[in-house]
Amino acid sequence: MRIHDILSCTAGRRADEPALIFEDRTWTFAELDRDARRLASGITRYAAPGDRIAIFTENNPEYILAYYGVPAAGMTLVFLNYRLSSREVALNLSDSSPTVLITEQKYLETARRAMADVPSVRTLVCLDGADESTLTWADLLADPVEPPTGSENEPAWLLYTSGTTGRAKGAVLTHRNVVAAVLSTVMSSEHDHEPGVMMMPWPLCHIAGYGVLMAHIRGDAAVLLRRYDTVQFLEAVQTHRVKQTTMAPTMMAMMLRHPRFTEFDLSSLKLISYGSAPMPAAVLREAFAAFPNARFKTGFGMTELTGNATVLRPADIEYALASDQSLLTSVGKPQWLTQVRIVDAEGNDTAVNEVGELVVRGDQVCTEYWNRPEATAEANRGGWFHSGDLARRDARGYLYIVDRKKDMILTGGENVYSREVEEVLHQHPAVAAAAVVGQPDEMWGELVVAFVEPRDGLTPTEEDVRDFCRGLLAGYKIPRRVLVVPELPRTTSGKTRKPELRKLLTDDRV
Ligand code: ATP
Ligand code: MG
Repeated sequence: MRIHDILSCTAGRRADEPALIFEDRTWTFAELDRDARRLASGITRYAAPGDRIAIFTENNPEYILAYYGVPAAGMTLVFLNYRLSSREVALNLSDSSPTVLITEQKYLETARRAMADVPSVRTLVCLDGADESTLTWADLLADPVEPPTGSENEPAWLLYTSGTTGRAKGAVLTHRNVVAAVLSTVMSSEHDHEPGVMMMPWPLCHIAGYGVLMAHIRGDAAVLLRRYDTVQFLEAVQTHRVKQTTMAPTMMAMMLRHPRFTEFDLSSLKLISYGSAPMPAAVLREAFAAFPNARFKTGFGMTELTGNATVLRPADIEYALASDQSLLTSVGKPQWLTQVRIVDAEGNDTAVNEVGELVVRGDQVCTEYWNRPEATAEANRGGWFHSGDLARRDARGYLYIVDRKKDMILTGGENVYSREVEEVLHQHPAVAAAAVVGQPDEMWGELVVAFVEPRDGLTPTEEDVRDFCRGLLAGYKIPRRVLVVPELPRTTSGKTRKPELRKLLTDDRV
């Protein structure tokens, strides 16, 4: 099965039902399928099967058409994050060497600057108004065709990882990867699904965008936001009676703490998934209280796994709330069709609750990193994909992410998991967000250092934060330094870029 088949199959059964809602327009499944076929047909004027087509825009319906239509034509869609600078876009363009670059007015200048030294880009498309040097979206469309049949092992999507731990890597996802990921996630939430409209607040350049395909395979409509904005999100939930959504922890925190949060009727929302980064327990508890009629679910995912590999189901979360709070920090169990193990340095399974590296196997695992054979070999060992995340499994089989391997701090011979310290800092009433990193130190190896972002109008002090940690953390885990910063450096999906914080420390800038 290929990606576009997801849309065609549903269009065959639900032709006239809504598939996509964006601002004041709605596409039915038949319309969306027809437009994806028009793109698959028209794009062949500017590129050949095997070529790459890059998209560098905010969320819009054309993005969804490209999700389906570009791979249908035998080409690979390269997702470029609209928040990148022209220098970063240029790096991604020279890495992925696309033939066509699709952008929009707002990013046209950045796109032009970025492609200046990238000879592969022969065609520039501007979605909303072009000049003589660019094509329009309409130029990419032709009479709809039956897309050519091709192998499901062809690359379909090239997504860059979030770049949280260093330079982003391009994960090559085949049709098989994407379809397997969608099926695995859908099967694993079969009994928890809420039919109806789903809301996609994530940037579509992020793997979380595959949630739109999950809606489509089930015949549900997806609402897109141009980019996440709390008020627009709340308005859209109210207007379209949205049944389910997926959110990053930072989006959730922004929403719950927004001054207008209580003005909207959000009673339609019945299922909220969250994930992509550790969810602070304090934010989660606020969310449970704010949405008493919604169920929640979460899981562990990665770009390289085409989304989620595990799921903590609503029933687990409800059980956790009633009887065992510790389960709330779990990412659940492996999804259907996916295998997950926790292994030690020799590749042997760890004992119950012993920390090791989380490794995954299944059709959803990307085949390679684009142009990075060493990174590919490093991640794919012994038939398993090595996530770089440290995790443990409890006696009942529930998995817990402990920390990233790269974020663990070694101080005086003790392992300190940055996440554990952050979790405590997040409970401090004056702390909005915290990030803990190691500072190189001759005596201790590394020192535990916390960067904290204050809650609006509050001013936590170093002594106060350290005092708060006493009694909650062992002495060696208590941050030696607490640095209050106006804002932590973050990726588009709201994760803290710890390499930047470490650099501040090693450059002696704080
Ligand atoms: P890069 O690989 O470029 O450094 P990244 O790893 O943040 O960036 P993504 O593929 O977007 O890029 O994110 C995957 C990572 O996100 C996982 O390896 C894990 O560290 C973290 N993550 C995902 N889901 C969860 C979760 N539920 N809880 C905690 N961490 C999570
Ligand atoms: Mg990663």
